Amino acid sequence: MTARADQEPSQAEARKDVPQERHCLRCCTVFWSEGFGERICRRCKGSNAWRNGVSVSQGAARRR
Ligand SMILES: [Zn+2]
Repeated sequence: MTARADQEPSQAEARKDVPQERHCLRCCTVFWSEGFGERICRRCKGSNAWRNGVSVSQGAARRR
């Protein structure tokens, strides 16, 4: 019985795409993230212009 206790399961889990508490990238608030792709809290998601990062002026400067 060779028991290796060198591994850190908790660290490995943190790298996985598991739901856990994370800090919002925008407001640094700790929120419940459903996965690794979820890095912004719902409040910030609800607000506009979180995807582009740039405030989009609607109707203006949208010419080709
Ligand atoms: Zn936020």
